[in-house]
Amino acid sequence: MRDFSVETFLQQLEPLVNIDSGLGNPDGATQTGLMLAQPLVDRGWILERHTVSDKCGECMVLKNREAERYDVLMVGHTDTVFPAGEAIKRPFTRDEKRAYGVGVLDMKQGCLAMVWILNALPKEVLDKLNIVVVFNPDEEIGSPYTRELTDSYARRTEYGMVFEAASTDGSHTIQRKGMMRVHMEFLGKAGHAGYAFDNGGISAVYEMAYWITQLISRFHNAETGTSINAGVAKGGQAVNIIPDHAEVELDIRYEKLSEMEKVEACLEELTAHAEAAGVKLVTKKRSKSAPMEPTEKTYALCELAKEVCAEIGQTFATKKRGGLSDANHISACGCTTIDGLGPTGDFDHSEDEYLELSTIEPTMDFVYGLLCKIADRK
Ligand SMILES: [Zn+2]
Repeated sequence: MRDFSVETFLQQLEPLVNIDSGLGNPDGATQTGLMLAQPLVDRGWILERHTVSDKCGECMVLKNREAERYDVLMVGHTDTVFPAGEAIKRPFTRDEKRAYGVGVLDMKQGCLAMVWILNALPKEVLDKLNIVVVFNPDEEIGSPYTRELTDSYARRTEYGMVFEAASTDGSHTIQRKGMMRVHMEFLGKAGHAGYAFDNGGISAVYEMAYWITQLISRFHNAETGTSINAGVAKGGQAVNIIPDHAEVELDIRYEKLSEMEKVEACLEELTAHAEAAGVKLVTKKRSKSAPMEPTEKTYALCELAKEVCAEIGQTFATKKRGGLSDANHISACGCTTIDGLGPTGDFDHSEDEYLELSTIEPTMDFVYGLLCKIADRK
């Protein structure tokens, strides 16, 4: 990128990393968002500050103009997974090759890279493209408060770009698993084990086991990419009592929307099975996220990305990821999305997290080139 200086980039990254913006620090995420937004505001971008909950900071939305439809939606999150005080305990440091600190990789650097790329874009490109940027403060808790706001843009945007760090081998992401979490309590009827056929006892443990085995035997399959993990399962109180209580926590992950729908249908079936057996169900928690599933349009965008890479001497590669990001829900809105567009490093969500300095410029060059190419084709 023209006039790129890694030193200047790091000078700007340091104060961002030194702000505590994890859970319980809503003001830190707001402050991070405002610092990121300022250079774009200075260049005439529209800034909207959205208060979405008192549990997280403000969500910042920036646009180069108001529009019915947008060409590109760029998303980064300003929160981290770390508790209050972590940034003071472990401030930004660097050596020749790497930078360290809280959220240095996940993903303050990706957010800053977005700003740098947008600031570098020539006027002709910005004239052609309607761009909207979201800095959300709640991604690490699953974006519960900003998802609807972000999706309201995703539904009317052609391309999505999420700036989570690229994989350590430099590859990007067009496919992420979706996830369902189910925490279910089963209430049966207790009775003496010696009179099981006479006393009307109903085993909650049997029903729970039936659910687990049905789900696993039908869906847990490496070929479809669906996994079922009964991470917590417990029940009963004594060996000679028919257990009247059991509960299970399931973590279900899938690559395809069709699999998610099949699992949901199966849960309906199992609910009917429990009712027929006289077991009462209490749903403690149930949540679901769609998978990030590539479409024909995604592969077409990858072709464009390959052209860009060929022109600048890079290679474009993609890799599936098991974890979720904002790319899951924005791509489910029909917005053709690539994730992992931030510079890379490793060990996010741990104290060993680092950013590899040599990857900053090439990654930004690629996205810059992709934006120019999208504008060219318009
Ligand atoms: Zn992240």
